[in-house]
Amino acid sequence: MKFEAAVLHKVGDPLRIEQVELLGLERQDVLVRMRASGLCHTDLEVMQGTLAYPLPIVLGHEGAGIVEEVGPDVTRVKPGDHVVCSWNPHCGHCFYCERDQPILCEPFSKHQPSGFLMDGRSRYRLNGRMLHHFSTVSSHAQYCVVPESGAVAVPRDIPFDRACLIGCGVMTGVGAVVRHAKVEHGSHVLVVGCGAVGLNVLQGARLAGAETIIAVERSAGRRDICMRMGATHFLGPDVHDPLSAVRDLTSARGADYVFECAGGESALRLSLEATRPGGQLVILGKTQVNNDVRLRFGSIMGDKRIVRSSYGGARPRRDFPWLAQRYLDGQLYLDELVSLRLPLSDINLGFDAMVRGEIIRAVVEFPG
Ligand SMILES: [Zn+2]
Ligand SMILES: [Zn+2]
Repeated sequence: MKFEAAVLHKVGDPLRIEQVELLGLERQDVLVRMRASGLCHTDLEVMQGTLAYPLPIVLGHEGAGIVEEVGPDVTRVKPGDHVVCSWNPHCGHCFYCERDQPILCEPFSKHQPSGFLMDGRSRYRLNGRMLHHFSTVSSHAQYCVVPESGAVAVPRDIPFDRACLIGCGVMTGVGAVVRHAKVEHGSHVLVVGCGAVGLNVLQGARLAGAETIIAVERSAGRRDICMRMGATHFLGPDVHDPLSAVRDLTSARGADYVFECAGGESALRLSLEATRPGGQLVILGKTQVNNDVRLRFGSIMGDKRIVRSSYGGARPRRDFPWLAQRYLDGQLYLDELVSLRLPLSDINLGFDAMVRGEIIRAVVEFPG
């Protein structure tokens, strides 16, 4: 079987649409006919070379589609199911899975950075040459092969172009609030950096019943979307001392929960300083892994809890259907997050718009 996929051959080059050959399915594989695939910043990091992956590779890790075929050992999904892909499938029986830390699943962590599925192999060829998978999803393609735990059935009523967002940005942001930090009703929440993840933290805080939700964002144009998602206060680029502004809004103590979603040293420093004694800082932003970060030691004192969350504490089979249902109930806002829809052939235009900072999410749509 052959299908079209957006392939990255070389760092710095645009993606090329290629005819990819699919080898046969293994026993626990699920073949998904893709209907929508979100463009995420992590794809861009691979294209720009700040996140190293073996090439050539089919990018995309935020996909939704319809199960086309399953391997003989697959029991959780069946052909015809509408699914959202998880970029962090797990084996269920390794050291970390048995300690209820499936994000750290060992076969996943071992093979995913090498561009393989969890058995350490690729299912794709391009002109006879091996082609790599991206985070076991590779959704910028007409079809993708994922492990059974990476294909999660969701209600049929949610449109695919909204459903796909649940697979990365929504899970990461909302999950950090409700699963990782477990924000309580009436809390003061601060969100530093309001891109796709930060906006979903804002709506997670709204869903959790936070009383004060402060957004710090350098782009003044994001004010309306931040307020729509749940912010009660917006501190834009005109606020020269966001730390004292946060203190003014939180009885001088600082926020109960701070979510750092911007990446980089200054955002991390602000986030730590703005966390009240006994409060919690959840770090979601990224910086280069070998970078040093300078912090004022006093800013980590006072019994603060500091945690790093990479996928919002995701348990995809529990959380994806829950998030999809919240959308259908009108509580989770996804329509507002899709700024641009494109066919696969125009995928590079979506990444160009992302580089220019013009969009929240671009979504590649595939005909039904
Ligand atoms: Zn992502
Ligand atoms: Zn495992």
